[in-house]
Amino acid sequence: AVTIFWFRRDLRLDDNAGLYHALKSGNPVQCLFIFDRNILDKLEDQDDSRLTFIHLAVTELDRELKKHGSSLLVKYNTAEKAWEDILGEFTINKVITNRDYEPYARERDNRIKALLENTGVEFIDFKDHVIFDHEEVFKDGGSPYTVFTPYKRRWIEKLKPQFHLKPYPTKKYFHFLSKNTKNIVPSLESMGFTKSSLKFPDKKFEDIIDDYAKTRDYPGIDGTSRISVHLRFGTISIRDAAAKAYEAKEKTWLNELIWRDFYSMILWHFPETVHKAFKPNYDRIQWRNNEKEFEAWCTGQTGYPIVDAGMRQLNTIGWMHNRIRMVTASFLSKHLLIDWRLGEAYFAKKLIDYEQASNVGGWQWAASSGNDAVPYFRIFNPEIQTKKFDPDLKYIKEWVPEFQDFSKYPQPIVDHKAARERALNAFKKALK
Ligand code: FAD
Repeated sequence: AVTIFWFRRDLRLDDNAGLYHALKSGNPVQCLFIFDRNILDKLEDQDDSRLTFIHLAVTELDRELKKHGSSLLVKYNTAEKAWEDILGEFTINKVITNRDYEPYARERDNRIKALLENTGVEFIDFKDHVIFDHEEVFKDGGSPYTVFTPYKRRWIEKLKPQFHLKPYPTKKYFHFLSKNTKNIVPSLESMGFTKSSLKFPDKKFEDIIDDYAKTRDYPGIDGTSRISVHLRFGTISIRDAAAKAYEAKEKTWLNELIWRDFYSMILWHFPETVHKAFKPNYDRIQWRNNEKEFEAWCTGQTGYPIVDAGMRQLNTIGWMHNRIRMVTASFLSKHLLIDWRLGEAYFAKKLIDYEQASNVGGWQWAASSGNDAVPYFRIFNPEIQTKKFDPDLKYIKEWVPEFQDFSKYPQPIVDHKAARERALNAFKKALK
């Protein structure tokens, strides 16, 4: 009998919690990846960049496994059908995987667990994607935190670096990988897709984090790590990232990684916040949802160069600087009074680092409806944001090449002062 290790968003062999436990069980381990048709069938672009990223990572996994006399079993089907096939092909004693916190994944995993357990196969999942799981950092009374600062304090108190940040030494146990080099990774074309031409950020982040606190807020400077896509798909281990921050005593950067754990925990305990405002009153806001204005925002044609630069960066490279994610999200939900859910969905479609937990968290933060959000009356002024964070207009000029100076730029689609008043009124009315 074999143990199957199922890769999902943990696409690396090194320091992989679930894989480590699978190998340590002492059975031959067959590694598996499923291109899930439930997800792939919904993709709009043939050259979807995230699918390309995953395909490259999966191909690399297979290459590495082949070096060790094994290979990656790859299925292209719905998860249920894939598992029905696998159950027919192998005698399996257990299935091991790493936990996924998104509502769709949780539901899928519950279905697969039931399917496997019906045939007497155990399904076990491990923590790998976060430092602390959804039930590890609780308030004294045993309930989840909803405010970041006390959560962070407790997170830091609980951290035992030699334990929580220690890599899982998978390599020591590679001799337990099943001996079979015959599997092959299907091409993107065979699944009806093509390769995206996007260039993905590399995995190095050590040199950035030294100056991070000073440079992180300036979108014109390459001052953040750009590892979000790697953390999303597990091509970098979160333990490795957090250990580097810890060793470098880089508190600001560690703080950002703690936000990531925090939002993952929030999504687990409050999965309904994917669709609903965390603070229910905020669902009474009367959104304008003007289609033309939404289109202008999506395409970077709002007449506010800092907003336009952000949206064009997103549309071009599938990534946007954090400061500008806040500015563009605030602009959509407040200046244009367009429902944050529409913005969240647009980011979800475009971001290569799309994480439901952080994206919903970020959007609810900007729209003030989140658990620990910016107060509703704080409305980012695009002009002031530009002066503070892009003083030499480097970022704007990079992403809006036709920009010369403010007087020659197309008229803003809304006047800042009037839009601000309108937003304040709409929010006040809803919260009365
Ligand atoms: P760095 O600044 O180098 O930070 C290191 C890592 O910390 C990031 O890779 C990320 O994993 C984590 N991190 C940083 N900031 C945050 C944050 N505010 N919340 C949670 N984790 C954070 N991040 C995503 O990974 N996926 C998303 O879909 C996403 N959507 C967002 C939407 C909005 C409206 C906002 C305001 C923020 C969003 N973020 C999201 C958070 C943040 O903008 C990105 O993580 C960051 O810009 C990624 O770039 P980096 O890797 O260079 O980050």
